[in-house]
Amino acid sequence: MNKKEALNQLNLEFSSQIKSPLIKTCQNIVPGMGSASADIMIIGEAPGKKEDELGQPFVGAAGKFLDQMLKTINLKRDDIYITNIVKCRPPNNRDPWPEEKEEFWPWLLAQINLIKPKLIVTLGRHSLSSFVLDPVMSKVHGTILRKEMPNLGKIRIYALYHPAAALYNGGMRETLIKDFKKIPKIIKMINQGEI
Ligand code: URA
Repeated sequence: MNKKEALNQLNLEFSSQIKSPLIKTCQNIVPGMGSASADIMIIGEAPGKKEDELGQPFVGAAGKFLDQMLKTINLKRDDIYITNIVKCRPPNNRDPWPEEKEEFWPWLLAQINLIKPKLIVTLGRHSLSSFVLDPVMSKVHGTILRKEMPNLGKIRIYALYHPAAALYNGGMRETLIKDFKKIPKIIKMINQGEI
């Protein structure tokens, strides 16, 4: 089985085993999309309305903004892997609860372990706080956090604002675009063993 098939299989298995009550209220589970061999894994919070309808991550307004930013660094969705901490839409787009994040955590860890991205890009505080305790986004955005994870070893997390939060906030939008544009340089530094 190649990596792509293994990732499909993993997503199918977790989809069929998930016990979260969210499964009763969501229309579709949204496992993730993109390359199983991606260097970059982008992790959002949870599917919204459009994602729930289509079963794909970041296909609404925030997703369009994300696509524009990817284009500025010459990347397509097929070059990366995009997923969420919580893979079913919380009703009325409320924030995911801690127990929901916990329920979906083993699935995310299995995805990370299989894909083995060089860089994990978290979008927003909910995503980052699954890896780091109580982050203050205004302080950590645009920085790389290194974290030792059981079974995964050392991972590099690049903390970004969430595109949905930045969409209609001029200052945050500019900051996110600026932080996003640093991704190729970070990958280069990782490849050269500098970070
Ligand atoms: N916001 C997220 O965090 N994830 C999505 O998939 C869509 C919007």
